Amino acid sequence: MQRRNFLGQSAGIAALAMLTPWRATATTSARTIIIGGGFGGATCARYLRLLDPGLAVTLIESDAAFVTCPFSNLVLAGMRTVDEITHTYARLRASAITVIHDTATAIDADNRRVALASGKQLDYDRLIVAPGIALKFDAVPGYDTAAAELMPHAWKAGAQTLLLRRQLEAMNDGGVVVIAAPANPFRCPPGPYERASLIAHYLKQHKPRSKILILDTKDKFSKQSLFQQGWNALYPGMIEWVAGSAGGLVERVEAASRTLVTESGFTEHRADVVNFIPPQEAGQIAQQAELTDASGWCPVNQLSFESLRIPGIHVLGDAAIAGAMPKSGFSANSQAKVCAAAIVAALRGDPIPEASYANTCYSLVGPDYGISVSAVYALTDSAIAAVKGAGGLSPSDADPAFRAREAAYARGWYSSITADTWG
Ligand code: FAD
Repeated sequence: MQRRNFLGQSAGIAALAMLTPWRATATTSARTIIIGGGFGGATCARYLRLLDPGLAVTLIESDAAFVTCPFSNLVLAGMRTVDEITHTYARLRASAITVIHDTATAIDADNRRVALASGKQLDYDRLIVAPGIALKFDAVPGYDTAAAELMPHAWKAGAQTLLLRRQLEAMNDGGVVVIAAPANPFRCPPGPYERASLIAHYLKQHKPRSKILILDTKDKFSKQSLFQQGWNALYPGMIEWVAGSAGGLVERVEAASRTLVTESGFTEHRADVVNFIPPQEAGQIAQQAELTDASGWCPVNQLSFESLRIPGIHVLGDAAIAGAMPKSGFSANSQAKVCAAAIVAALRGDPIPEASYANTCYSLVGPDYGISVSAVYALTDSAIAAVKGAGGLSPSDADPAFRAREAAYARGWYSSITADTWG
């Protein structure tokens, strides 16, 4: 199929395509390569194979196993171990997906070839780039990779999560934990506030005189009223949130003394533990391949996830600009299925099917206190938009049994999405 056709499907054609049943039979032996084995990339690999068993699917992932950011806040609170949020690629391999643990270092779009750190080169017919985020270490003066060893971001799960956990364990009762939250858009909009909640849960049990200060770049945040209601109910007086316009904007950090400077240098916050979450952009390989625009994220056709900058390359997950969808594991998983269906259709010369996308972000305020925001999305014109009336927030007047049920749903969601992603 010509690129202009692939990119130019009208809504009418797409609606007709929905009536065409999927043929999960081998019809093409095209070579697909996926860079990144996280929520987006691993799901895309699985669904490409499911939709067309004839496809040659190769997944390139730097790490031997994947530690999920979802539920990494539970590790900080001592509610889960890192092992319990680590997933291997064994089941993907068992589904005849070739998994290569290596790092993609360059993309040659003209010759449809990916270079790996090991020196290998791989040819593709379709490339999917799902590298997640890169942290912008240069954005706030003083916060560089060395500073991250003293003030962990823990925004990529694994060693950074454990470092922050050790710092919380070492802190004295009565200490101050500062969490600095970035501007939108960033990975997991409710994440910093779930983190504050679960750190408060840990401190309430072990160091009850301690405090948490959230210095925010923003003036409002995801599920704000639900979080604040939960904090008042479970941790009264323990968590203080400072909006950007009220002095929350961090302008500079001094990592050695664990100090954050706000309000044009007028206020210094010295903390015992600092969790500094820097601004973010698309993962490095996407930037290097010039898949990003001036925003630092990747513009895509939001039906096929094909790059608007380089044909034959699809970008999905956190790295992509996906309309109203938040940067979440659930979104990446949902986009990956839409992208896999679009690629298989394009390779077969079929019209691209109409897409429906979904996201639910559960957050735990405490082990038995869950809240959520969910939405169903559809493509309107060229951007993904939330469908009115489909989804919404947890009710504000819910009783404890309802909150406990939502916490149980959150745990169920984690089990099912990780099974759907890594098999
Ligand atoms: P990732 O999952 O980060 O995967 C990218 C992969 O690409 C990585 O494995 C990386 O090693 C690999 N990679 C990158 N570059 C290369 C390269 N050049 N070569 C080879 N491999 C490469 N989302 C939810 O839906 N629900 C939650 O409850 C939730 N909680 C969160 C809590 C926290 C604290 C945080 C930080 C995030 C949370 N998220 C949650 C968000 C979720 O983690 C991300 O949105 C999701 O991981 C994005 O998926 P992705 O595939 O785009 O990127």
